[in-house]
Amino acid sequence: MSADVIIVGAGIAGLVCAYDCANAGLDVMIIHPGDIHETSSFYAQGGIAATWSDNDSEVLHMEDTILAGAGLSDTNVVQHFCNSAPAFIQWLIDRGVPFDHDLNGDFRLTKEGAHSQDRIFHVKDYTGHAIINTLYNHLHQHPSITWVDGHISALLKENHAVVGVTVDRQHYYANYVVLATGGYSNIFSQSTNPATTLPLPIALAYQAGAKMADLEFIQYHPTVLCKKGFPPLLISEALRGEGAFLVNKNNERFMRKYHELEDLAPRDVVSRAISLEVEPKLNISPLMTTIEQRFPTIFDRLIERGFDRSSYEIPVQPLVHYTIGGIIANTAGQTNLSGLYAIGEIAATGFHGANRLASNSLLEAGVMAKNCAQLIIDHGTFDMEARHTEALQYDPLTSKDLDWLGDLCRHSLGVIRTKEKLISAIHSLVNHEKSNHSLFEFAIAVIQSALHRQESRGGHYYSDFPNVSDAIYHSSIQINKEVLHVSSLSSESVDVNLI
Ligand SMILES: Cc1cc2nc3c(=O)[nH]c(=O)nc-3n(C[C@H](O)[C@H](O)[C@H](O)COP(=O)(O)OP(=O)(O)OC[C@H]3O[C@@H](n4cnc5c(N)ncnc54)[C@H](O)[C@@H]3O)c2cc1C
Repeated sequence: MSADVIIVGAGIAGLVCAYDCANAGLDVMIIHPGDIHETSSFYAQGGIAATWSDNDSEVLHMEDTILAGAGLSDTNVVQHFCNSAPAFIQWLIDRGVPFDHDLNGDFRLTKEGAHSQDRIFHVKDYTGHAIINTLYNHLHQHPSITWVDGHISALLKENHAVVGVTVDRQHYYANYVVLATGGYSNIFSQSTNPATTLPLPIALAYQAGAKMADLEFIQYHPTVLCKKGFPPLLISEALRGEGAFLVNKNNERFMRKYHELEDLAPRDVVSRAISLEVEPKLNISPLMTTIEQRFPTIFDRLIERGFDRSSYEIPVQPLVHYTIGGIIANTAGQTNLSGLYAIGEIAATGFHGANRLASNSLLEAGVMAKNCAQLIIDHGTFDMEARHTEALQYDPLTSKDLDWLGDLCRHSLGVIRTKEKLISAIHSLVNHEKSNHSLFEFAIAVIQSALHRQESRGGHYYSDFPNVSDAIYHSSIQINKEVLHVSSLSSESVDVNLI
Protein backbone atom coordinates (compact mmCIF):
# COMPACT_ATOMS: atom_id res chain seq x y z
CA MET A 1 0.00 0.00 0.00
CA SER A 2 1.12 3.55 -0.52
CA ALA A 3 0.23 7.18 0.29
CA ASP A 4 1.68 10.59 -0.47
CA VAL A 5 2.63 11.02 3.17
CA ILE A 6 2.98 8.46 5.94
CA ILE A 7 2.77 9.98 9.42
CA VAL A 8 3.80 7.65 12.22
CA GLY A 9 2.24 8.69 15.53
CA ALA A 10 -0.98 10.41 16.57
CA GLY A 11 0.18 12.83 19.25
CA ILE A 12 0.05 16.58 18.68
CA ALA A 13 2.86 16.53 16.08
CA GLY A 14 1.31 13.74 14.00
CA LEU A 15 -2.24 15.11 14.09
CA VAL A 16 -1.32 18.73 13.27
CA CYS A 17 0.84 17.61 10.33
CA ALA A 18 -1.93 15.27 9.12
CA TYR A 19 -4.51 18.04 9.42
CA ASP A 20 -2.63 20.43 7.12
CA CYS A 21 -1.49 17.77 4.62
CA ALA A 22 -4.96 16.23 4.33
CA ASN A 23 -6.68 19.59 3.97
CA ALA A 24 -4.25 20.46 1.17
CA GLY A 25 -5.57 17.41 -0.70
CA LEU A 26 -2.67 15.04 -0.04
CA ASP A 27 -3.27 11.37 0.49
CA VAL A 28 -2.24 10.80 4.14
CA MET A 29 -1.74 7.60 6.09
CA ILE A 30 -1.54 7.81 9.90
CA ILE A 31 0.03 4.78 11.56
CA HIS A 32 -0.26 4.44 15.34
CA PRO A 33 -1.18 1.76 17.89
CA GLY A 34 -4.82 2.82 17.81
CA ASP A 35 -5.39 4.68 21.08
CA ILE A 36 -4.99 8.46 20.96
CA HIS A 37 -5.38 8.55 24.76
CA GLU A 38 -2.09 6.74 25.23
CA THR A 39 0.18 9.52 23.98
CA SER A 40 2.31 11.99 25.93
CA SER A 41 0.35 14.72 24.15
CA PHE A 42 -2.90 13.47 25.64
CA TYR A 43 -1.28 13.27 29.10
CA ALA A 44 -0.08 16.91 29.01
CA GLN A 45 -1.56 18.77 31.94
CA GLY A 46 0.12 22.14 32.29
CA GLY A 47 -0.37 23.75 28.90
CA ILE A 48 1.32 25.43 26.00
CA ALA A 49 3.46 28.58 26.11
CA ALA A 50 2.91 31.68 23.96
CA THR A 51 3.19 35.41 24.49
CA TRP A 52 -0.21 37.05 24.52
CA SER A 53 -0.63 39.67 27.26
CA ASP A 54 0.58 43.28 27.04
CA ASN A 55 3.19 42.66 29.78
CA ASP A 56 4.83 39.91 27.75
CA SER A 57 6.82 39.79 24.51
CA GLU A 58 8.45 37.20 22.24
CA VAL A 59 11.81 38.53 23.41
CA LEU A 60 10.96 37.72 27.05
CA HIS A 61 9.79 34.23 26.04
CA MET A 62 13.10 33.79 24.18
CA GLU A 63 15.11 34.99 27.18
CA ASP A 64 13.35 32.54 29.53
CA THR A 65 13.84 29.67 27.06
CA ILE A 66 17.53 30.45 26.61
CA LEU A 67 18.11 30.83 30.36
CA ALA A 68 16.46 27.45 31.09
CA GLY A 69 18.46 25.93 28.19
CA ALA A 70 21.70 26.43 30.16
CA GLY A 71 23.67 28.04 27.36
CA LEU A 72 22.94 25.49 24.66
CA SER A 73 19.83 26.74 22.88
CA ASP A 74 20.21 27.71 19.21
CA THR A 75 19.12 31.36 19.24
CA ASN A 76 17.68 31.39 15.70
CA VAL A 77 15.64 28.30 16.44
CA VAL A 78 14.38 29.75 19.75
CA GLN A 79 13.41 32.94 17.93
CA HIS A 80 11.50 30.94 15.32
CA PHE A 81 9.43 28.96 17.85
CA CYS A 82 8.76 31.90 20.21
CA ASN A 83 7.71 34.14 17.30
CA SER A 84 5.48 31.40 15.86
CA ALA A 85 3.74 30.64 19.18
CA PRO A 86 0.89 33.21 19.14
CA ALA A 87 -0.15 32.21 15.60
CA PHE A 88 -0.13 28.53 16.55
CA ILE A 89 -2.33 29.25 19.59
CA GLN A 90 -4.70 31.18 17.33
CA TRP A 91 -4.77 28.18 14.96
CA LEU A 92 -5.71 25.88 17.85
CA ILE A 93 -8.41 28.33 19.02
CA ASP A 94 -9.81 28.48 15.48
CA ARG A 95 -9.96 24.67 15.38
CA GLY A 96 -12.01 24.77 18.64
CA VAL A 97 -9.58 24.14 21.53
CA PRO A 98 -11.44 25.60 24.55
CA PHE A 99 -8.59 27.33 26.44
CA ASP A 100 -9.66 28.63 29.89
CA HIS A 101 -10.98 32.18 30.22
CA ASP A 102 -11.44 34.40 33.26
CA LEU A 103 -14.71 36.16 34.18
CA ASN A 104 -13.86 39.10 31.87
CA GLY A 105 -13.54 36.78 28.90
CA ASP A 106 -9.74 37.13 28.72
CA PHE A 107 -7.59 34.03 28.46
CA ARG A 108 -6.61 32.78 31.91
CA LEU A 109 -2.86 32.44 31.46
CA THR A 110 -0.67 30.89 34.13
CA LYS A 111 3.02 30.65 34.98
CA GLU A 112 5.25 27.59 35.26
CA GLY A 113 8.82 26.98 36.42
CA ALA A 114 11.38 29.48 34.99
CA HIS A 115 8.79 31.52 33.03
CA SER A 116 9.03 35.20 33.97
CA GLN A 117 5.47 35.96 32.79
CA ASP A 118 2.02 34.38 32.82
CA ARG A 119 1.97 32.85 29.33
CA ILE A 120 0.73 29.28 29.65
CA PHE A 121 -2.53 28.58 27.80
CA HIS A 122 -4.35 25.70 29.42
CA VAL A 123 -7.64 23.87 29.61
CA LYS A 124 -7.88 23.30 33.37
CA ASP A 125 -5.30 20.54 33.96
CA TYR A 126 -6.15 18.48 30.88
CA THR A 127 -4.79 20.68 28.10
CA GLY A 128 -3.34 17.79 26.06
CA HIS A 129 -6.60 15.86 26.29
CA ALA A 130 -8.51 18.91 24.98
CA ILE A 131 -6.09 19.52 22.09
CA ILE A 132 -5.93 15.89 20.97
CA ASN A 133 -9.69 15.36 21.18
CA THR A 134 -10.34 18.54 19.18
CA LEU A 135 -7.90 17.56 16.42
CA TYR A 136 -9.03 13.94 16.33
CA ASN A 137 -12.66 15.03 15.91
CA HIS A 138 -11.63 16.91 12.76
CA LEU A 139 -9.58 14.01 11.40
CA HIS A 140 -11.05 10.64 12.27
CA GLN A 141 -13.42 10.58 9.31
CA HIS A 142 -11.41 12.76 6.96
CA PRO A 143 -11.71 11.37 3.40
CA SER A 144 -8.01 11.93 2.62
CA ILE A 145 -6.76 10.03 5.68
CA THR A 146 -6.25 6.28 6.03
CA TRP A 147 -5.76 5.10 9.61
CA VAL A 148 -3.57 2.05 10.18
CA ASP A 149 -3.52 0.50 13.66
CA GLY A 150 -0.18 -0.93 14.64
CA HIS A 151 3.44 -0.35 15.56
CA ILE A 152 6.04 0.20 12.88
CA SER A 153 8.76 -2.41 13.16
CA ALA A 154 11.07 -1.33 10.30
CA LEU A 155 11.98 1.62 8.10
CA LEU A 156 12.28 0.76 4.39
CA LYS A 157 15.27 2.23 2.59
CA GLU A 158 16.25 2.36 -1.07
CA ASN A 159 19.45 4.01 -2.29
CA HIS A 160 19.97 5.73 1.07
CA ALA A 161 16.45 7.21 1.00
CA VAL A 162 13.68 6.22 3.38
CA VAL A 163 10.71 5.14 1.27
CA GLY A 164 8.35 3.48 3.71
CA VAL A 165 7.72 1.52 6.89
CA THR A 166 6.66 -1.97 7.91
CA VAL A 167 3.73 -2.82 10.17
CA ASP A 168 2.95 -6.47 10.93
CA ARG A 169 5.10 -7.59 7.99
CA GLN A 170 3.09 -5.39 5.62
CA HIS A 171 5.05 -2.69 3.77
CA TYR A 172 3.67 0.83 3.32
CA TYR A 173 5.35 3.28 0.91
CA ALA A 174 5.22 7.06 0.61
CA ASN A 175 7.01 10.08 -0.85
CA TYR A 176 7.43 11.40 2.68
CA VAL A 177 7.82 9.39 5.89
CA VAL A 178 7.23 11.57 8.94
CA LEU A 179 8.18 10.18 12.36
CA ALA A 180 6.09 11.83 15.09
CA THR A 181 6.54 9.10 17.66
CA GLY A 182 7.57 11.06 20.77
CA GLY A 183 10.65 10.75 22.95
CA TYR A 184 12.71 7.87 24.33
CA SER A 185 11.77 8.07 28.02
CA ASN A 186 10.49 4.51 27.79
CA ILE A 187 13.94 2.98 27.44
CA PHE A 188 13.79 3.52 31.22
CA SER A 189 11.85 1.04 33.34
CA GLN A 190 9.63 3.81 34.68
CA SER A 191 8.73 7.24 33.30
CA THR A 192 5.83 9.69 33.22
CA ASN A 193 5.11 8.77 29.57
CA PRO A 194 2.37 6.29 28.59
CA ALA A 195 3.83 2.83 29.11
CA THR A 196 2.34 1.51 25.86
CA THR A 197 5.02 2.57 23.37
CA LEU A 198 8.69 1.74 23.20
CA PRO A 199 11.02 4.19 21.48
CA LEU A 200 11.59 1.74 18.63
CA PRO A 201 11.11 4.28 15.78
CA ILE A 202 14.01 6.48 16.92
CA ALA A 203 16.15 3.36 17.34
CA LEU A 204 15.26 2.27 13.79
CA ALA A 205 16.15 5.72 12.48
CA TYR A 206 19.48 5.51 14.31
CA GLN A 207 20.17 2.12 12.71
CA ALA A 208 19.21 3.57 9.31
CA GLY A 209 21.89 6.29 9.66
CA ALA A 210 19.95 9.27 11.00
CA LYS A 211 22.15 11.73 12.89
CA MET A 212 21.23 12.15 16.55
CA ALA A 213 22.07 14.98 18.94
CA ASP A 214 22.15 15.72 22.65
CA LEU A 215 20.89 12.27 23.66
CA GLU A 216 22.39 12.72 27.16
CA PHE A 217 19.97 15.52 28.06
CA ILE A 218 17.08 13.77 29.75
CA GLN A 219 14.67 15.84 31.75
CA TYR A 220 13.36 14.48 35.02
CA HIS A 221 10.06 15.90 36.20
CA PRO A 222 10.71 16.92 39.80
CA THR A 223 7.32 16.23 41.30
CA VAL A 224 5.91 12.77 40.55
CA LEU A 225 3.89 10.71 43.00
CA CYS A 226 4.89 7.04 42.68
CA LYS A 227 2.50 4.83 44.57
CA LYS A 228 2.66 1.05 44.34
CA GLY A 229 -0.13 -0.41 42.22
CA PHE A 230 -0.75 2.85 40.29
CA PRO A 231 0.94 4.45 37.27
CA PRO A 232 3.24 7.38 38.20
CA LEU A 233 1.23 10.58 38.71
CA LEU A 234 2.84 13.79 37.53
CA ILE A 235 1.98 16.78 39.70
CA SER A 236 2.11 19.68 37.27
CA GLU A 237 4.49 22.59 37.81
CA ALA A 238 1.44 24.81 37.51
CA LEU A 239 0.59 23.92 41.13
CA ARG A 240 3.88 25.48 42.22
CA GLY A 241 3.17 28.36 39.81
CA GLU A 242 -0.06 28.96 41.72
CA GLY A 243 1.34 28.70 45.26
CA ALA A 244 2.24 25.09 46.21
CA PHE A 245 5.77 24.66 47.64
CA LEU A 246 8.27 21.96 48.47
CA VAL A 247 9.22 20.97 52.02
CA ASN A 248 11.47 18.31 53.54
CA LYS A 249 11.15 16.06 56.59
CA ASN A 250 11.78 19.05 58.89
CA ASN A 251 9.12 21.10 57.11
CA GLU A 252 11.84 23.37 55.70
CA ARG A 253 11.13 25.15 52.38
CA PHE A 254 14.37 23.77 51.00
CA MET A 255 14.27 25.29 47.49
CA ARG A 256 15.26 28.62 49.10
CA LYS A 257 18.78 27.32 49.60
CA TYR A 258 19.18 25.99 46.02
CA HIS A 259 17.98 28.75 43.68
CA GLU A 260 16.80 32.35 43.70
CA LEU A 261 13.61 31.32 41.88
CA GLU A 262 12.96 28.89 44.74
CA ASP A 263 10.10 26.50 43.87
CA LEU A 264 9.97 27.81 40.31
CA ALA A 265 13.64 27.15 39.54
CA PRO A 266 14.46 25.21 36.33
CA ARG A 267 13.45 21.56 36.45
CA ASP A 268 16.97 20.13 36.63
CA VAL A 269 17.74 22.25 39.70
CA VAL A 270 14.50 21.23 41.44
CA SER A 271 15.00 17.53 40.54
CA ARG A 272 18.53 17.48 41.97
CA ALA A 273 17.43 19.33 45.09
CA ILE A 274 14.59 16.86 45.69
CA SER A 275 16.91 13.89 45.19
CA LEU A 276 19.25 15.30 47.88
CA GLU A 277 16.55 16.01 50.49
CA VAL A 278 15.00 13.63 53.01
CA GLU A 279 11.28 12.86 52.55
CA PRO A 280 10.53 15.64 50.06
CA LYS A 281 6.86 16.61 49.80
CA LEU A 282 4.78 19.10 47.89
CA ASN A 283 2.70 21.22 50.25
CA ILE A 284 -0.53 22.22 48.50
CA SER A 285 -2.22 24.08 51.37
CA PRO A 286 -2.39 27.39 49.39
CA LEU A 287 -4.54 25.57 46.80
CA MET A 288 -6.94 23.72 49.03
CA THR A 289 -9.93 25.87 48.13
CA THR A 290 -9.16 25.90 44.38
CA ILE A 291 -7.50 22.58 43.55
CA GLU A 292 -10.69 20.62 42.88
CA GLN A 293 -11.90 23.14 40.33
CA ARG A 294 -8.58 24.29 38.84
CA PHE A 295 -6.79 20.90 38.77
CA PRO A 296 -9.68 18.39 38.65
CA THR A 297 -7.74 15.54 37.00
CA ILE A 298 -4.84 15.72 39.42
CA PHE A 299 -7.24 16.02 42.34
CA ASP A 300 -9.26 12.94 41.28
CA ARG A 301 -6.09 10.90 40.77
CA LEU A 302 -4.78 11.96 44.19
CA ILE A 303 -8.01 10.80 45.79
CA GLU A 304 -7.75 7.47 43.90
CA ARG A 305 -4.29 7.08 45.42
CA GLY A 306 -5.57 7.65 48.96
CA PHE A 307 -4.59 11.33 49.34
CA ASP A 308 -5.44 12.61 52.81
CA ARG A 309 -7.06 16.07 52.41
CA SER A 310 -6.15 17.10 55.94
CA SER A 311 -2.38 16.59 55.46
CA TYR A 312 -1.95 18.96 52.45
CA GLU A 313 1.26 17.13 51.59
CA ILE A 314 2.07 14.86 48.64
CA PRO A 315 5.28 12.75 48.69
CA VAL A 316 7.15 13.46 45.45
CA GLN A 317 10.22 12.22 43.57
CA PRO A 318 11.88 13.08 40.24
CA LEU A 319 11.08 10.73 37.34
CA VAL A 320 12.20 10.57 33.70
CA HIS A 321 9.80 12.77 31.78
CA TYR A 322 11.09 14.33 28.56
CA THR A 323 13.98 13.60 26.24
CA ILE A 324 15.66 16.69 24.84
CA GLY A 325 17.89 14.84 22.40
CA GLY A 326 16.71 13.06 19.29
CA ILE A 327 17.02 12.98 15.52
CA ILE A 328 18.70 16.16 14.30
CA ALA A 329 16.06 18.09 12.39
CA ASN A 330 15.49 21.65 11.29
CA THR A 331 12.32 23.50 12.26
CA ALA A 332 10.44 21.76 9.41
CA GLY A 333 11.55 18.27 10.47
CA GLN A 334 14.10 17.66 7.70
CA THR A 335 16.77 15.14 8.68
CA ASN A 336 20.01 13.99 7.05
CA LEU A 337 18.15 11.05 5.43
CA SER A 338 16.23 11.65 2.21
CA GLY A 339 12.53 10.99 2.62
CA LEU A 340 12.68 10.93 6.44
CA TYR A 341 11.21 13.72 8.57
CA ALA A 342 11.19 13.93 12.36
CA ILE A 343 8.79 16.23 14.23
CA GLY A 344 7.89 16.75 17.89
CA GLU A 345 9.70 15.19 20.80
CA ILE A 346 11.57 12.67 18.61
CA ALA A 347 13.49 15.56 17.00
CA ALA A 348 16.42 17.61 18.30
CA THR A 349 16.24 21.14 16.93
CA GLY A 350 18.29 23.04 19.52
CA PHE A 351 15.17 24.82 20.86
CA HIS A 352 15.42 23.40 24.38
CA GLY A 353 19.19 23.67 24.75
CA ALA A 354 20.26 21.47 27.66
CA ASN A 355 17.01 21.81 29.58
CA ARG A 356 13.46 22.31 28.32
CA LEU A 357 11.40 25.20 29.61
CA ALA A 358 8.00 23.94 30.81
CA SER A 359 5.19 24.04 28.21
CA ASN A 360 7.57 24.65 25.31
CA SER A 361 7.30 21.10 23.97
CA LEU A 362 3.68 21.09 22.80
CA LEU A 363 4.59 24.38 21.16
CA GLU A 364 7.65 22.99 19.38
CA ALA A 365 5.76 19.86 18.26
CA GLY A 366 2.82 21.84 16.86
CA VAL A 367 4.88 24.48 15.06
CA MET A 368 7.25 21.88 13.57
CA ALA A 369 4.26 19.87 12.37
CA LYS A 370 2.83 22.88 10.56
CA ASN A 371 6.22 23.75 9.04
CA CYS A 372 6.72 20.15 7.91
CA ALA A 373 3.28 20.00 6.32
CA GLN A 374 3.93 23.29 4.50
CA LEU A 375 7.26 22.02 3.19
CA ILE A 376 5.63 18.82 1.91
CA ILE A 377 2.78 20.77 0.30
CA ASP A 378 5.28 23.16 -1.36
CA HIS A 379 7.47 20.34 -2.68
CA GLY A 380 4.48 18.36 -3.93
CA THR A 381 4.21 14.68 -4.70
CA PHE A 382 5.72 12.50 -7.39
CA ASP A 383 5.08 9.05 -8.85
CA MET A 384 6.74 6.20 -7.02
CA GLU A 385 8.17 3.28 -8.90
CA ALA A 386 6.70 -0.12 -8.06
CA ARG A 387 8.67 -1.49 -5.14
CA HIS A 388 9.52 -5.12 -4.44
CA THR A 389 11.03 -5.09 -1.01
CA GLU A 390 10.85 -8.39 0.84
CA ALA A 391 8.80 -8.43 4.03
CA LEU A 392 11.08 -8.03 7.02
CA GLN A 393 10.95 -10.34 9.97
CA TYR A 394 10.92 -8.33 13.19
CA ASP A 395 12.56 -9.82 16.21
CA PRO A 396 10.80 -8.33 19.25
CA LEU A 397 12.60 -8.19 22.57
CA THR A 398 11.24 -10.31 25.41
CA SER A 399 9.80 -8.60 28.49
CA LYS A 400 12.83 -9.92 30.40
CA ASP A 401 15.18 -8.10 27.95
CA LEU A 402 13.13 -4.91 28.22
CA ASP A 403 13.08 -4.99 32.02
CA TRP A 404 16.83 -5.53 32.02
CA LEU A 405 17.37 -2.58 29.64
CA GLY A 406 14.97 -0.33 31.58
CA ASP A 407 16.68 -1.04 34.91
CA LEU A 408 20.13 -0.50 33.41
CA CYS A 409 19.11 2.93 32.03
CA ARG A 410 17.46 3.91 35.32
CA HIS A 411 20.58 2.95 37.24
CA SER A 412 23.16 4.57 34.95
CA LEU A 413 21.31 7.64 33.59
CA GLY A 414 19.80 8.98 36.83
CA VAL A 415 19.45 12.59 38.01
CA ILE A 416 23.10 12.38 39.12
CA ARG A 417 25.44 10.32 36.88
CA THR A 418 28.86 8.83 37.58
CA LYS A 419 31.59 7.67 35.21
CA GLU A 420 31.75 4.32 36.95
CA LYS A 421 28.06 3.58 36.38
CA LEU A 422 28.11 4.79 32.77
CA ILE A 423 31.15 2.67 31.83
CA SER A 424 29.74 -0.36 33.57
CA ALA A 425 26.41 0.13 31.67
CA ILE A 426 28.22 0.26 28.29
CA HIS A 427 30.09 -2.97 29.10
CA SER A 428 26.89 -4.73 30.12
CA LEU A 429 25.10 -3.59 26.95
CA VAL A 430 27.82 -4.57 24.46
CA ASN A 431 28.19 -7.97 26.10
CA HIS A 432 24.45 -8.69 26.10
CA GLU A 433 23.23 -11.31 23.61
CA LYS A 434 20.77 -8.75 22.16
CA SER A 435 23.44 -6.05 21.73
CA ASN A 436 22.72 -5.80 17.98
CA HIS A 437 19.04 -5.10 18.49
CA SER A 438 18.21 -1.52 17.46
CA LEU A 439 16.94 -0.57 20.95
CA PHE A 440 20.14 -1.82 22.55
CA GLU A 441 22.27 0.01 19.97
CA PHE A 442 20.30 3.17 20.62
CA ALA A 443 20.71 2.82 24.41
CA ILE A 444 24.47 2.48 23.86
CA ALA A 445 24.38 5.75 21.87
CA VAL A 446 22.59 7.51 24.75
CA ILE A 447 25.13 6.31 27.30
CA GLN A 448 28.08 7.10 24.99
CA SER A 449 26.74 10.64 24.63
CA ALA A 450 26.47 10.96 28.43
CA LEU A 451 30.03 9.66 28.91
CA HIS A 452 31.33 12.08 26.34
CA ARG A 453 29.92 15.23 27.91
CA GLN A 454 32.52 15.81 30.60
CA GLU A 455 30.67 18.62 32.36
CA SER A 456 27.37 19.17 34.15
CA ARG A 457 24.81 21.19 32.27
CA GLY A 458 21.00 21.23 32.25
CA GLY A 459 19.58 17.72 32.08
CA HIS A 460 23.02 16.09 32.38
CA TYR A 461 24.55 16.19 35.86
CA TYR A 462 27.82 14.25 35.95
CA SER A 463 29.26 14.09 39.46
CA ASP A 464 32.81 13.39 38.17
CA PHE A 465 32.60 16.71 36.28
CA PRO A 466 30.28 18.87 38.41
CA ASN A 467 31.02 22.20 36.70
CA VAL A 468 29.80 23.78 33.47
CA SER A 469 32.57 23.75 30.87
CA ASP A 470 33.57 26.89 28.93
CA ALA A 471 33.20 24.98 25.66
CA ILE A 472 29.63 25.11 24.37
CA TYR A 473 28.72 22.33 21.97
CA HIS A 474 25.99 19.88 21.00
CA SER A 475 26.93 16.20 20.96
CA SER A 476 26.14 14.40 17.73
CA ILE A 477 26.27 10.66 17.08
CA GLN A 478 25.66 8.42 14.07
CA ILE A 479 25.72 4.65 14.02
CA ASN A 480 29.24 3.14 13.97
CA LYS A 481 30.79 6.59 14.42
CA GLU A 482 32.31 8.45 17.34
CA VAL A 483 30.46 11.16 19.26
CA LEU A 484 31.20 14.55 17.64
CA HIS A 485 30.90 18.07 19.00
CA VAL A 486 28.92 20.47 16.81
CA SER A 487 28.23 24.15 17.39
CA SER A 488 24.72 24.42 15.95
CA LEU A 489 22.07 21.84 15.09
CA SER A 490 20.41 24.02 12.44
CA SER A 491 23.59 23.73 10.37
CA GLU A 492 23.57 19.93 10.72
CA SER A 493 20.19 19.11 9.14
CA VAL A 494 20.17 19.11 5.37
CA ASP A 495 18.39 21.70 3.28
CA VAL A 496 16.87 19.55 0.60
CA ASN A 497 16.31 15.91 1.38
CA LEU A 498 13.73 14.88 -1.16
CA ILE A 499 13.91 11.40 -2.60
C1 LIG B 1 2.52 13.42 31.86
C2 LIG B 1 3.05 14.43 30.87
C3 LIG B 1 2.70 15.76 30.99
C4 LIG B 1 3.20 16.71 30.09
N1 LIG B 1 2.79 18.01 30.18
C5 LIG B 1 3.21 18.90 29.24
C6 LIG B 1 2.69 20.22 29.23
O1 LIG B 1 1.85 20.59 30.05
N2 LIG B 1 3.15 21.07 28.26
C7 LIG B 1 4.06 20.70 27.33
O2 LIG B 1 4.43 21.53 26.47
N3 LIG B 1 4.54 19.44 27.31
C8 LIG B 1 4.12 18.54 28.23
N4 LIG B 1 4.61 17.26 28.19
C9 LIG B 1 5.49 16.86 27.08
C10 LIG B 1 4.65 16.78 25.81
O3 LIG B 1 3.42 16.19 26.13
C11 LIG B 1 5.35 15.95 24.73
O4 LIG B 1 6.65 16.41 24.52
C12 LIG B 1 4.58 16.06 23.41
O5 LIG B 1 3.23 15.75 23.63
C13 LIG B 1 5.17 15.12 22.38
O6 LIG B 1 4.29 15.08 21.29
P1 LIG B 1 4.60 14.14 20.06
O7 LIG B 1 3.46 14.34 19.11
O8 LIG B 1 5.98 14.39 19.60
O9 LIG B 1 4.59 12.66 20.66
P2 LIG B 1 3.52 11.83 21.53
O10 LIG B 1 2.41 12.65 22.01
O11 LIG B 1 4.33 11.07 22.51
O12 LIG B 1 2.91 10.82 20.47
C14 LIG B 1 3.68 9.77 19.94
C15 LIG B 1 2.82 8.93 19.02
O13 LIG B 1 3.63 7.96 18.37
C16 LIG B 1 3.02 6.68 18.51
N5 LIG B 1 4.04 5.63 18.41
C17 LIG B 1 5.11 5.40 19.22
N6 LIG B 1 5.81 4.33 18.76
C18 LIG B 1 5.18 3.90 17.64
C19 LIG B 1 5.43 2.84 16.72
N7 LIG B 1 6.46 1.97 16.84
N8 LIG B 1 4.59 2.71 15.66
C20 LIG B 1 3.53 3.56 15.50
N9 LIG B 1 3.26 4.57 16.35
C21 LIG B 1 4.07 4.72 17.41
C22 LIG B 1 2.34 6.78 19.88
O14 LIG B 1 1.37 5.77 20.05
C23 LIG B 1 1.73 8.16 19.76
O15 LIG B 1 0.57 8.11 18.95
C24 LIG B 1 4.10 16.30 29.07
C25 LIG B 1 4.45 14.96 28.96
C26 LIG B 1 3.94 14.03 29.84
C27 LIG B 1 4.32 12.59 29.67
